[in-house]
Amino acid sequence: MAEIQVVDKEEKLLIQRAYRGLLKSIHSPMDEEDRDNIRKAYKLAVEAHAKQRRKSGEPYILHPIAVARICAEEVGLGPTAIVAALLHDVVEDTDVSLEDIYSRFGDRVAMIVDGLTKLDRSYDSDSPQAENFRKVLSTLVKDVRVVLIKMADRLHNMRTLGSMPRHKQLAIAAETNYIYAPLAHRLGLYNMKTEFQDLCMKITDQESYQDIARKLQETKTSRTSYIEKFIVPMKKELEEAGLSFRITGRPKSIHSIWNKIKSKEVIFEEIYDLFAVRVILDVPRRLEKQACWQVYSIVTDVYRPIPERLKDWVTTPKSNGYESLHTTVIGQDGRFVEVQIRTERMDEIAERGYAAHWKYKGVSDSPDVYESWLDNVRELLENHETDAIEFLNDFKTSLFNEEVYVYTPAGDMKILPKGATALDFAFMIHTDLGLRCTAIKINNRLVPMGYRLQNGDQVGVQTGKNQKPNESWLKLVVTGKARSKIRTALREERKEQGAIGKETLERKLQHLKVDFETNADMLVKHFGFRSRLDLYSAITHDEINLLELKKFKVEGQRLLPPVVEEPVKVEKPEEEAPSTFRRSSPPKLLLNGESADQYEYQLANCCNPVMGDDVFAFLSSNSGMKIHRTTCPNAVNLMANYGYRVMKAEWVQAGTSSFRVDLLVTGIDTGPGVIERLSQRISSTLGLNIRSFYIDGDEGFFEGKISLIVSNKDQIVQAIQALKTLDGISSVTRVESN
Ligand code: MN
Repeated sequence: MAEIQVVDKEEKLLIQRAYRGLLKSIHSPMDEEDRDNIRKAYKLAVEAHAKQRRKSGEPYILHPIAVARICAEEVGLGPTAIVAALLHDVVEDTDVSLEDIYSRFGDRVAMIVDGLTKLDRSYDSDSPQAENFRKVLSTLVKDVRVVLIKMADRLHNMRTLGSMPRHKQLAIAAETNYIYAPLAHRLGLYNMKTEFQDLCMKITDQESYQDIARKLQETKTSRTSYIEKFIVPMKKELEEAGLSFRITGRPKSIHSIWNKIKSKEVIFEEIYDLFAVRVILDVPRRLEKQACWQVYSIVTDVYRPIPERLKDWVTTPKSNGYESLHTTVIGQDGRFVEVQIRTERMDEIAERGYAAHWKYKGVSDSPDVYESWLDNVRELLENHETDAIEFLNDFKTSLFNEEVYVYTPAGDMKILPKGATALDFAFMIHTDLGLRCTAIKINNRLVPMGYRLQNGDQVGVQTGKNQKPNESWLKLVVTGKARSKIRTALREERKEQGAIGKETLERKLQHLKVDFETNADMLVKHFGFRSRLDLYSAITHDEINLLELKKFKVEGQRLLPPVVEEPVKVEKPEEEAPSTFRRSSPPKLLLNGESADQYEYQLANCCNPVMGDDVFAFLSSNSGMKIHRTTCPNAVNLMANYGYRVMKAEWVQAGTSSFRVDLLVTGIDTGPGVIERLSQRISSTLGLNIRSFYIDGDEGFFEGKISLIVSNKDQIVQAIQALKTLDGISSVTRVESN
């Protein structure tokens, strides 16, 4: 951040205008004290950030003002949160201390600002990002506003990411995708989640993003007129029924359209339900359910519904609080249109999630959906021994998208993430029930503990007093709670067992008349363990032979291991090479703008980048520098946890390099001719080498994987185009990741 001496007039006006915009955006009721506090916070922030500028060059203060505005306008937060948002970067970046905040604004604001201040840079950790996130979450359970402001902060940073260097953009996008978007979903902030996903996609997959954005723009007029035509008969019937309502129609997000293109393997033009029509009712709370179903009945009288697409979150809300009735109907020209039916209250909860939920608390008689989730997070946080990355992974499982509804033997409904197992259920009910679980019955039939729960299952758990979890249980669960409880139990167990092993070792060393402390760490190393505890538990389990100690020399208090001749190292046959560098000159890359020759790097095996792909470099802790595609699914995880290890990478066009690329081909099996035609087209027409060819057919369909050697991305595009036009081929796609 460069220092500036004078803030010029124009900038002053800019700042004041932003502040006035913020004040106008506040809709929650405020008294004189609230207004005063906001003014004080603004003044303090302006002063404190006076000498700072953002990467874009604009005055820094515009950022906290914008964050406060998002809090007020888009999340619907009140004065306390607005004050904290204005001050959120003050302690971290300026001379103002937390004590200052405390004495001027009180303990609530100070607590929130503290939660938003990053840990000291000297904090020693494998992943500072994950540590910081754990810190934010530990305040989340005290005051959810911390996380809501944090997300507003991230949203503004994402919106203004343009002036950051590309590799930083990628790291921030990855972290956003990994944790902030799912968190926004979990807190019911659908608009924010959608914007996060779209902004991320714009960075990681610019081409597809622009492509869809352009097509949406091109089809806008025809879509709008279709929707208008669609609404007319429906609206007429609803009015005749005397309902008070409004109808909106909007296109789905670019990211969700892209997901559909990928998962359904269709092209843009083939996606019919690009938009959702929303009927929002104005009815008293007690008539809500009845009114929603009345609308459903009217809509489906006008248009024929597709029964499988009916979703009733009015009777049973999602665990993030979402309530709505969805149906897909067949409109004019046979096009599918999704109709969402909800009330004004449901709509506000759907748009503003947690904050709106708060507003209706007490008014609503439904159980508090967030409370049980927060309990869950609280429990994860209590487990201090988990390292930050483990914690983050456990936490992430609590952010699930889809859920499964099951019942206890008493008929109580429980909601778990989709994919959760019977054992997860046991842990969800009670930790002890999980730890002592011996058998599980689903609908009165015995199932394995790893059984995946299905909607409507009734789950009974049987326990045994002497039951103990073992390592393999970790593979039988998916929820963070179960995982962390099992890990803690295993750790305890190992400590207990270690005590036995330690005693044994102490006895042996006493026998040899040497001191325990002097020799313990040497023995850990000698037997190849990482910690004393590992050594002790190996002794308990007779995994090492302590008779070996007899061969040691004793020198005073010290044991000396016998000298062993170095065994001749057998060169392991190299596993599949990371990429085919051998026959041609290595690909040229620039890392952080410098020639990559000075680094040892490899192209990542998972996503097989090819010259021309959008790539970045990642410095892994044990396997050196790897080059990944920016769309690589593994990369998202890597960057989210270790963003500081990401480096910018660019291709340099030079010489001929060769790369491996995997293509997935599907089609209709028209006999053995397929393989021949495919390989014919690849080798003679395209002049490319096939490295391997694997094809598997079943009942008239086949799926195959072809590994090709290419020298750049253009060749892949050509190959895909050429193979697609062959008879019997339905799709050709590049494998994203292995
Ligand atoms: Mn900030």
